[in-house]
Amino acid sequence: MRISDLLRQPGPTLSLEVFPPKTSEKYEETAAAAKAIARLNPAFMSVTYGAGGGTSAFTTQIAAEIQRETGVPTLAHLTCVSSDRAHVARMLKLYRENGIENILALRGDLPADGSRSTDYAHAIDLIRDIRAQGDFCLGGACYPEGHIECPHKSEDLEHLKEKVDAGLDFLTTQMFFSNDIFYNFLYRAREKDIQIPIIAGIMPITSPRQLARSAAMSGTEVPQRFRAIVDFFGDSPAAMKQAGIIYATEQIIDLLANGIRHIHVYTMNKPDVAAGIMQGLSAIL
Ligand code: FAD
Repeated sequence: MRISDLLRQPGPTLSLEVFPPKTSEKYEETAAAAKAIARLNPAFMSVTYGAGGGTSAFTTQIAAEIQRETGVPTLAHLTCVSSDRAHVARMLKLYRENGIENILALRGDLPADGSRSTDYAHAIDLIRDIRAQGDFCLGGACYPEGHIECPHKSEDLEHLKEKVDAGLDFLTTQMFFSNDIFYNFLYRAREKDIQIPIIAGIMPITSPRQLARSAAMSGTEVPQRFRAIVDFFGDSPAAMKQAGIIYATEQIIDLLANGIRHIHVYTMNKPDVAAGIMQGLSAIL
């Protein structure tokens, strides 16, 4: 099923994200976790893609297995920063052959060794290429606090508008820990005439290490209220996990109560965390 059709249906949607394993030894364990998460009955599941493309076969395999074994539609990510046109064409063929009709088209993080694709400078180049090659439902990434490489939020929004106009059906946001950041971004995006659905990305934080890593990679602001929770409960894994699930669930409830209809949860491949969130929303969704 196309995600653009799902997002048009009445009522809220909650989707869940998993990432593929880095090695084949971990494949079965990761696929089992991904399918356990899919059985929680989200609107759709997304499967990330290694920026270097080295694990691209696992992205396809996990996305296809989820669809086949659980019936939950999948969104396969695709990055271009280390790819050429021939590789992207092969990936599109593979996605098509595996019944994957939804793609999140991304540039990917810049490789540390300074290497770059000569075919794709930005996600917009990939979006145009995919649009020219077939009828996929296409999503893109957006950054309520501005992308970390872009010094001015207004410039980042200009690039986002161009990316959307190149043919996106929906956007998913980077994680944020304060909903005001999302509301402010949504206002600015709509003012810029970005009218496609924007799915709010929520990451449940279950350890201080995860918070430090996520905040450093994305530049996401950590509000004092959440910092205090992590400082207080961080040394107790069980308490931190519970507090992180509740914080994320409260964020989602506030978003829904303010008319936001589409939420995406970064599960970090943890079925118990995803289940905790779904349980907290059981009557709400
Ligand atoms: P772009 O849209 O190309 O933007 C990147 C930067 O370039 C921005 O600063 C933007 O302002 C600037 N820019 C854009 N167009 C232009 C232009 N024409 N001229 C000058 N500057 C321009 N990474 C992975 O490796 N695998 C994944 O599966 C993955 N999934 C993600 C899912 C979501 C929802 C999000 C939010 C991020 C994900 N990422 C993933 C991370 C993402 O790849 C990085 O954030 C990456 O640095 C930017 O990707 P993008 O597609 O947003 O890039």
